[in-house]
Amino acid sequence: MRCLICGMIINDKNYNMNDSTFIDKNEADDIIRCPFCGVSKEYLSDDEEYINFNLDDLDDKTRKVLDMGMKLEIFNGDFYAEASKQAKDEKLKKMFKDLSNIEMMHARVHKNFGGFETLPSLRKMDYTKHNTDELLLMEANKREKHAIAFYDRYFDKVPDSIKKIFKALSDVEKEHVTITE
Ligand SMILES: [Zn+2]
Repeated sequence: MRCLICGMIINDKNYNMNDSTFIDKNEADDIIRCPFCGVSKEYLSDDEEYINFNLDDLDDKTRKVLDMGMKLEIFNGDFYAEASKQAKDEKLKKMFKDLSNIEMMHARVHKNFGGFETLPSLRKMDYTKHNTDELLLMEANKREKHAIAFYDRYFDKVPDSIKKIFKALSDVEKEHVTITE
């Protein structure tokens, strides 16, 4: 099975990756989410040969939006990597690590569709003021809402092929809002 959004192949060895980010979990014989980027079943295909990154040439405006989306997701992925180190609760550490993986995959999705060469490395931020698990969760929740607002804001400004991506990723962030509440 292949994810049509991130392009990853899902098999019986990886189906339960990042499962702390999902309210309803994958079963070996019932895959309902991509374990890499989190999108729902409707974006998964049984045809592993499907070539995903085959969009018509995008205009510069769309590429600019994808560049912003890529940076936003890296920024959030970096935050979660750091939050995972700082969190005291073991379950929360795991959830932040899984969230970091998912957001970094979202950044890769933007990179692939935008045709960018590499993922940029952004300036490291200092998150030490979020010095309790509660503050880390509050910051996480705020970032997820910010990401959803980004996808909403640019939805009407991108071609249909990219709208589909934005809808898929935004739905993932909506679940992240729920699990960080
Ligand atoms: Zn995926």
